[in-house]
Amino acid sequence: MVIRKRKVLASISMMLALVALLVIATHAVTAAISAPTMPPAEALKLLLDGNQRFVAGKLEHPNQTPERRAEVAKGQHPFAAVLACADSRTPPEIIFDRGLGDIFTVRVAGNVADKVVIESLDYSVKHLGVRVVMVLGHRRCGAVIAAVEGHEGTADQDVGPMLSELRPAVAASKGMPGDPIENAVRENVELVMKNLATSEELSAMVKSGDLKIVGGIYDLDTGTIEMLKD
Ligand SMILES: [Zn+2]
Repeated sequence: MVIRKRKVLASISMMLALVALLVIATHAVTAAISAPTMPPAEALKLLLDGNQRFVAGKLEHPNQTPERRAEVAKGQHPFAAVLACADSRTPPEIIFDRGLGDIFTVRVAGNVADKVVIESLDYSVKHLGVRVVMVLGHRRCGAVIAAVEGHEGTADQDVGPMLSELRPAVAASKGMPGDPIENAVRENVELVMKNLATSEELSAMVKSGDLKIVGGIYDLDTGTIEMLKD
């Protein structure tokens, strides 16, 4: 009887030790991630409000003063990250009417998310406190046009890393009704969102609801952004 009691006590203390270890480990993981700069919904609203000002031609140019420059020189706490195309007509700071230290911007032709892009966005989330990442495609994207036009009969051809990244979107949108370029642009934003949300780096925070990945399509003519549904 005494032996059994001892055994029970031993296993209880072992369990307690395990729980303590788990708590310490969880705390260490949490502590490594920066506190949010702003909740996702609030950050998204700031972006979209700025875009409305841009569309209406009522720019406020916030955070573009020498004082702001001095303030963010000490450290950055951007409220959002945007993955946009390198296209000269889609600069996030301008189309969202923001300034220094506001948006962590990653730009690459076709707004695709390779490993380096994902790691860059991951840095903004884990180390700078970003909690909303917008994947921003745009209409008549040159990279997407090249991928759509080069798609026919070039399956075995080496097209380079950028067009390879766009190929899944082109393939997925093939045969859809409507404009093939517009469809591929949209499909690409959706696929990139999915790639980010399921990435090794970001998936846990997306699943827990701490991080929001959103997608939009920028209209070169009107300056508006059509937000895609989750
Ligand atoms: Zn583009």
